[in-house]
Amino acid sequence: MGLIVQKFGGSSVANTERIRNVARIITDTYKAGNDVIVVLSAQGDTTDDLLEKAAEINPRASKREMDMLLATGEQMSISLCAMAIEALGYPVVSLTGWQAGVRTSRTYGDARVSRIEKERLESELGQRKIVLVAGFQGVNRFDDITTLGRGGSDTSAVALAAALHADLCQIYTDVDGVFTADPRKVEGARKLDEITYGEMLELASLGAQVLHNRSVEMAKKYRVNLEVLSSFSGKPGTKVKEVVKTMEKSHISGVAKDKNIARLALVGLNHEPGTAFKIFSLLAKEKINVDIILQSIGRGDTKDISFTVTRSDLPRAKELLELHHKNLGFERIEVSDRCAKVSIVGAGMIGSPGVAAMMFEALFDAGININMISTSEIKVSVLVDETDADRAVQVIHQRFFREFDQK
Ligand code: ASP
Ligand code: MG
Repeated sequence: MGLIVQKFGGSSVANTERIRNVARIITDTYKAGNDVIVVLSAQGDTTDDLLEKAAEINPRASKREMDMLLATGEQMSISLCAMAIEALGYPVVSLTGWQAGVRTSRTYGDARVSRIEKERLESELGQRKIVLVAGFQGVNRFDDITTLGRGGSDTSAVALAAALHADLCQIYTDVDGVFTADPRKVEGARKLDEITYGEMLELASLGAQVLHNRSVEMAKKYRVNLEVLSSFSGKPGTKVKEVVKTMEKSHISGVAKDKNIARLALVGLNHEPGTAFKIFSLLAKEKINVDIILQSIGRGDTKDISFTVTRSDLPRAKELLELHHKNLGFERIEVSDRCAKVSIVGAGMIGSPGVAAMMFEALFDAGININMISTSEIKVSVLVDETDADRAVQVIHQRFFREFDQK
């Protein structure tokens, strides 16, 4: 018993029947003696529909008015769900971000939570009410409504859990938890019982869509006990925490793929100090994010540097480098947007030197060529041809999780 924050995503509240289902989960938690704060997303595709509607009226609408509009989706969910809970006979109140004291930075469309003013929340909880809070929204110093960026309701939930020192923050969604790979695409992918914040952060930034990246960062910072679980299946989900039990059978927690990647290579650069600095400060000034970087050993007077950017940045990056051709002094630029990044993530690889080799062996056995490699403490990424990407994930996954599957 304690304080539990529960967040339900758009698919979990998509229609009347699902709202009733969610109301049951909430009231069961309350009946067990817990204080309950619930954060809801907008129903189904509501946010996308609102965006479309706005674009029809004015494709260049101000961000302030966009936030005013987008925030209505969540408001609909909390009021409807509150009605469902009233019908079940429980005390409940729904609050907008503003009423719940969610204060944010000034930026419309991508605001950060700056603090939670807890008085109202505490007083409602003190009266033993179930408190429903509209996710994804807050209010800035001008008392204007702001939104937290797409997928931001996860962050609303974690922020409330952190501010009120909740015992648990449950993120309910339409999958059973965090998987070792995309279960729709990879045979043998299985649900993880536990994962560390660090691993979850890597997976979230690699495009595993289960949690908003910033929510994981915040959960890590404030040590919020997180659980990702399904609102449909009733099965236990995946716990996200600082350290996990050492009994995990594999050194890695997951295999992920990112196709939103392009590679640039500057061939025949002058082999003199300062070249890398010039290239990457140029890109940084234009806010072009660089991921994997590879510099070749110099041959005589020249060397090559290749690196990856997100695909949408490729034209801009290429243009920029061509513009500074003289100053940078390279022979030519080669680009490719036919690549994908495949990564393994696992806290268990710290101090286990064989892990990267195992990944490379799996790729070698499958005849898949590696174009670039990068590593961090808990991640190994390789760049492969896009056409090899799905197979790469499959063979790597098989290599690491095979023993487990046979048991
Ligand atoms: N409704 C918002 C979105 O679709 C926020 C969220 O669902 O987390 O992005
Ligand atoms: Mg989401």
